[in-house]
Amino acid sequence: MSDTRHCLDGGRLVGMDGWLPGLAAHHRWSDRYPRPGCNHLTCESCGGDVRAWPDLDLAPSFAGPGASKPVADALAAGGPDAALAQGGVVAAQGSRLYACACTVAGERGERPLRSREGEDHPLKALPWRCAGHPPLGTPAELDGETVDDADAAGLAARALAGAAPADGVPWPTSFIDAELPAAWIAHIYALLPAGAAREGIAGAATAALAADDPKERAAGLDFYLFHPGAPGAERISAALRDEPARFHGVALPWSKKKDLAHLAWKVLAERLQPGDDGGVDAIALELARGDALTGRAELAAILRLGALDPAWYKEHVGEVAAANPKALASVVDALRRFGDADLEAAVATLRAADGVDGEAVERALRERLAGRVTR
Ligand SMILES: [Zn+2]
Ligand SMILES: [Zn+2]
Ligand SMILES: [Zn+2]
Repeated sequence: MSDTRHCLDGGRLVGMDGWLPGLAAHHRWSDRYPRPGCNHLTCESCGGDVRAWPDLDLAPSFAGPGASKPVADALAAGGPDAALAQGGVVAAQGSRLYACACTVAGERGERPLRSREGEDHPLKALPWRCAGHPPLGTPAELDGETVDDADAAGLAARALAGAAPADGVPWPTSFIDAELPAAWIAHIYALLPAGAAREGIAGAATAALAADDPKERAAGLDFYLFHPGAPGAERISAALRDEPARFHGVALPWSKKKDLAHLAWKVLAERLQPGDDGGVDAIALELARGDALTGRAELAAILRLGALDPAWYKEHVGEVAAANPKALASVVDALRRFGDADLEAAVATLRAADGVDGEAVERALRERLAGRVTR
């Protein structure tokens, strides 16, 4: 069976400040970081591969649909020197030039070729697509580390403890990287095929959930936020239920305001949707009901409650609203899929609830359930 993966944004063009990895296995697999440019683009018009050159841009006079073909011809005939001599290409530090046999484009920032809905990027449609990436074969040498089946767990444990990769992450770092302590090892996991190396990494992430150092627990949770279906993710709900003091009130390493339970709930919200087997994380569902009533559940989890357990939600929506005053819009959003009779009952409960701001409730009902609720 083919195990080719495609960039989830259809492939991305990146300027020189972005990350264009050399290794064929690297691709954009997550909505989060990293955000590599696609290194295997092909053209749907001419069928050719797309190549890239640093610090060059397309001259403005050749921009526009079809107008860059003479520049593509010059590049094919004599490379960047010929295109510079022709005037179709200009030196431009920070810009990356991309070309197939029919089309040329420069990119300074980042440009996904497809929207998340799979449509052509609306700003400038280009005929290029991600043509797929092979899984990472093992052993692999990257970023100063060896990824192999035997020691993947050890490598993952070091990565989650902040001690790997030896050469640092290969993508440009920003403030947000501090909040993604598992990004590197989660990336490796995503590139690997199913097998021993993947299992070793997931095992290390599971162990990190129970580590004494809250930084490692945060990293373990972060791993599962990247891969909420990976083996061991089912332990999170039980850990939160059985040892709440290890999560609630324990600040995340990168935030004074948010605790480990906040991060755990982000993962559990992902697990509160029917999985491949149609089931949801039953312990998480039970926890979500309890935490929604005390105001400590993640908003996304509250939203899922409305979909997964409408009977419970209809009955308790007033208490949930009272416990989560800042989340009133989400509390009301969770009613959107309700049928008319259930909605009417839920709204009555909400309006009658103690401890909720009546005006705010009416505003939320008007704004979030437009037309479906009357006074
Ligand atoms: Zn790609
Ligand atoms: Zn082409
Ligand atoms: Zn908490």
